[in-house]
Amino acid sequence: MNKINWNFENTYFNLSKSFKEDIKPIPVKNPELILLNNELASSLNLDFSKISNKELSKIFSGNSLPEGSNSIAQAYAGHQFGHFTMLGDGRAILIGEHTTKSNKKFDIQFKGSGKTAFSRNGDGRAALGPMLREYIISEAMNGLNIPTTRSLAVVKTGENIQRETSLQGAILTRVALSHIRVGTFQYIAARQKEDELKTLFNYTINRHYPEIKNSNNQALDLLNLLIDRQCNLVVNWMRVGFIHGVMNTDNMTISGETIDYGPCAFMDTYDPKTVFSSIDKMGRYAYCNQPIIAKWNLSRFAECLIPLIDKDQNKAIELATEAINSFEKNYQEKWLNMMRDKLGLFGSEDEDKSLVLDLLTWMHQKKIDYTNTFCYLMNFKIQNSKDFKDLDFQNWKIRWQKRLSKNNNTPEKYLKLMRSVNPLVIPRNHIVEEVLNEANQDNLKPIKKLLNILKSPYAEKKNISEYQISSPSSDKYQTFCGT
Ligand code: AMP
Ligand code: MG
Repeated sequence: MNKINWNFENTYFNLSKSFKEDIKPIPVKNPELILLNNELASSLNLDFSKISNKELSKIFSGNSLPEGSNSIAQAYAGHQFGHFTMLGDGRAILIGEHTTKSNKKFDIQFKGSGKTAFSRNGDGRAALGPMLREYIISEAMNGLNIPTTRSLAVVKTGENIQRETSLQGAILTRVALSHIRVGTFQYIAARQKEDELKTLFNYTINRHYPEIKNSNNQALDLLNLLIDRQCNLVVNWMRVGFIHGVMNTDNMTISGETIDYGPCAFMDTYDPKTVFSSIDKMGRYAYCNQPIIAKWNLSRFAECLIPLIDKDQNKAIELATEAINSFEKNYQEKWLNMMRDKLGLFGSEDEDKSLVLDLLTWMHQKKIDYTNTFCYLMNFKIQNSKDFKDLDFQNWKIRWQKRLSKNNNTPEKYLKLMRSVNPLVIPRNHIVEEVLNEANQDNLKPIKKLLNILKSPYAEKKNISEYQISSPSSDKYQTFCGT
């Protein structure tokens, strides 16, 4: 096993038993490795090249654990669709923290590896389709330069699991800066033991925010830093039309990475109210609600930190409220700057906001593809170019070009900016479904091809046009939590 270069410890394992359950993955019958992310492995200084497929299958199913791993299931709680519940890793097991040569620490976690103390009525297992879907979308997010947990491997377990029908079981290896969530803080805060809260807090600062170790008010600083990171994250999601789908507080990380790829999907035609998740009947987690929900979740985080912000509770609430209220302005500014980048606008002009909003309104009214509109503006050939013959669009374009002339720079320069933020390809819903279907029938070629294309979504490449087509019935597309 040492050939692999695992460098394991598990600092979370060392915390007291309130934080986790010590548990091993439950072995599976007949594991078979089907995807291994060699690029991610080498960026973690891991080398699987000398290991046989049979051995790799054992490793990534948890049938054989690396030396030094002290596996655990983490305890956490969370607001699910606004309701507070006890949760925890019901089907995930953290096998340890791997430290790279450059001293970066990553959680290595198996998802779908059997029941834990937190499984409630679940079987602790995962189906192949949803694990492959998480692999595709998380790696696509990484390609898009958006902070995210990563996917290192998928194995089929050789066991079937029962959902509405019988499905092939699978285990995904997830890599993350950590799995500490807003919900982890909520769980500990609800226990009302200040020493435990202090332990989690110090652990978090040491692991993620050492820069505020010596500050005067670490708790307030942590809150402000997370507000900023989550704000950046949601702005990035909005940039590419990503809809997380289940922004419960347990699915918001303290590291600022996107986590939990369940019912998420990318928007095709622009509609701010887009919801794909079959269970989100009220549209709580719709595209346009994501910043509002991020602020709501951050408020839940702020509540957990109150005892650490100031001994005087009123003072603490006042400081936390002020921090939370800064979210909107921060978001608005970052969002507008992001949209300026998408349109190649340098500097800031009073007219920018209405220029952006008018384009979005046009896309909405005429049901135009969000991603492809920016491709068109960057002079790329796209399928539905006749959409852009529309008179309202042509008039808008004249205003845009006038505004571009105020950049005082060359088209090369603004096109370079646009090309750095506007993807040419995103994981289109119908294509994701297609490749998952094929993979379920043992044909892995299409998923591998898609993964390869999604690695560099900003790069101009031959043969990507079939991946750029707006999903034909996107407004009817439904996603599921994937349990
Ligand atoms: P999620 O919707 O993935 O955020 O999961 C919400 C909660 O349900 C978490 O505590 C999960 O660990 C748990 N859970 C999801 N699927 C299963 C399963 N198949 N068995 C046990 N627990 C599960
Ligand atoms: Mg979750």
